[in-house]
Amino acid sequence: MNFISISQPSIGKKEIEYVTDAVQSGWVSSLGKYIDIFEENFANYCGTKYAVATSNGTTALHLALVALGVTREDEVIIPDLTFVATGSAIKYIGAKVVIVDVNEDNLCISPEAIRKAITSKTKAIIPVHLYGHPSDMEEINKIAKEYNIFVIEDAAEAHGAEVNGKKVGGLGDAGIFSFYGNKIITSGEGGMITTSDEELYNKMRYLRDHAMSKDKRYWHTEVGFNYRMTNLQAALGVAQFERIDEILAKKKKIFEWYQDALKDIKGIKLNHQASWAKNVYWMVCLELDEYSEFQRDEFIQKLKTKNIDSRPYFYPVSDMPMYDNTNTSITHKVYKKGLNVPSYFDITKEQVEYVCTEIKKIFENNIVEKIQDRDDNIKLMLGKKI
Ligand SMILES: *Cc1c(COP(=O)(O)O)cnc(C)c1O
Repeated sequence: MNFISISQPSIGKKEIEYVTDAVQSGWVSSLGKYIDIFEENFANYCGTKYAVATSNGTTALHLALVALGVTREDEVIIPDLTFVATGSAIKYIGAKVVIVDVNEDNLCISPEAIRKAITSKTKAIIPVHLYGHPSDMEEINKIAKEYNIFVIEDAAEAHGAEVNGKKVGGLGDAGIFSFYGNKIITSGEGGMITTSDEELYNKMRYLRDHAMSKDKRYWHTEVGFNYRMTNLQAALGVAQFERIDEILAKKKKIFEWYQDALKDIKGIKLNHQASWAKNVYWMVCLELDEYSEFQRDEFIQKLKTKNIDSRPYFYPVSDMPMYDNTNTSITHKVYKKGLNVPSYFDITKEQVEYVCTEIKKIFENNIVEKIQDRDDNIKLMLGKKI
């Protein structure tokens, strides 16, 4: 079997056609029709009035936070289990990053933990829809309303996910998306912010483009950013976005292939889907019962020798040197036994079945080894006694 990568983009004829068109049109920077089309289509999809395209998902987060008025005096709550960019965007501002635990089943931020972490300085919450599963937005919005706090959805990994039939990106004050090469759809690099708040929308567009005065060109009264997406990137994004239903259908199918092939294996847990949620299965998740971080890493190495790529779950953000340690017991329990396995658009059923056969072999061998270890330990102990 040839090397099976964890992720790779699916580039078709349309992608090449639109990108070629954008290059040939001469509109290679951040003006051009594909930007407008991408923003409009994306807002419609999420059920928001507006969308603002950005250079990537991290700048989308930063821009949304700045435009909402978050300052260094404020606190922003995030889950411990996420890609580090969620915290970085808050650090850019100098605000305090308050890290809380996740739910064990869906790996998303725990509403109860949010409630406990709120102080008079809490300005915003960033729930992350991790690995394609949406956060419990109804509970989170209730809390936010009660305390008058902003909610920014980090939907970088969850294009098309739903909470009770409503798409993510339209469930908070703003939602952010990423179009990095390994995300559900890609524009090479790129991001998007969705919102229905007109004032916020205008503020974000203004700050995205160096905060240039609308009435007086090259006059600026604050420090802005260049966080624009290029028309070339948007051309790729528009083509990918036209295929989103097809891509999400395939993602679901891939997950079901894994589920089918691994259903009889006790001790391997796959992605969860809450009753109120539509999971888009950005990454297929495996949790190996009772594994330590070392054993999980060994498992990844063993898969690699079989030409199968995989990656560990994100590490707890709070363990990293830039952040304060927390005792988030669920995040710390779950991250070490988790890994993601190949689930890119073009993977075949045969390849998934091969991956699952190898997973089973390694997992079952490890159980045998563990029992042998235990028996050896018992012998050792008995030996000492005698
Ligand atoms: C990818 C990702 C981001 C950042 O997106 P970039 O486009 O890579 O800057 C932010 N949050 C989460 C949860 C992500 O997975």
